Amino acid sequence: MNDPRSPHDRAMDLFELGLLAAREGKLDDGRRLFASALEEEARAADSVPHDIEPTRSILHQSAASIALRIGDVRQAMKYIDAGLAGRVPTQLRDEMMVLREQILILAAETKDYRLRAPRTLTPVQQISRRFRSSAPVDIAGLARALGLAVRQADLGHGTAGEIFPDLYRGGPSGYTIRVNTSDSLPLKRLTIAHEIAHFLLHRNRIQNKLVDDRMYRSRLESGREKDAEKLAYDLLMPGSVLAQLRSSGLNDPAQLADRFKVPLHVMKRRMGIMS
Ligand SMILES: [Zn+2]
Repeated sequence: MNDPRSPHDRAMDLFELGLLAAREGKLDDGRRLFASALEEEARAADSVPHDIEPTRSILHQSAASIALRIGDVRQAMKYIDAGLAGRVPTQLRDEMMVLREQILILAAETKDYRLRAPRTLTPVQQISRRFRSSAPVDIAGLARALGLAVRQADLGHGTAGEIFPDLYRGGPSGYTIRVNTSDSLPLKRLTIAHEIAHFLLHRNRIQNKLVDDRMYRSRLESGREKDAEKLAYDLLMPGSVLAQLRSSGLNDPAQLADRFKVPLHVMKRRMGIMS
């Protein structure tokens, strides 16, 4: 049976249907439709001649981003690299490089993130360095670069934040972080850093929503929460930036907390001051 529409049109229809299913909470249907959309878009990308630009780049970028959304990192990498190998228009190339980084993050093993500087920088470290070279750290920018959607919501008294797979409105990584609307900016920043840490360290354990209470306790074991806290502190208050400020004479915890836009008790703990 011949379908008069092109593979790309079919891919877009399937993708729309996938979004609708995901919005209605039918996640299995959503994933299945996205997978079919990927098949069609891959067919479209494979069939377009090399010199047809920007069509060729756009189709490869689209196939890669659908693949990323369903966590098919291998296909995502294949299509973004094949796309970038062509004669890509400059503006599109920038967008595709951002997507490639997000794919690299998901491809990286969770153990890839090390707090101590290794000999060569891992993809996560290369990205995180761009957002963490001065105080205050651009923590929302880092979340975006990692492909995470960040939203605010009224989460009630007892909850600081949460992270969950979100096929419908998640960022390119397919995850959403929510922070509590009623919190102060420094607290919200701490929560974003904490949930990023869960994403980097524990996303294979986040099949369902992971909710952190006021003490940043969740259903994960306390050891894993400690790991997340340690990484969150490092993301928000990088040792090198802190050391630089302190060596220039800035040692007052309140001033440093203000500089990094973090809660005072958090800066005190980072400095090893018990309060
Ligand atoms: Zn936590």
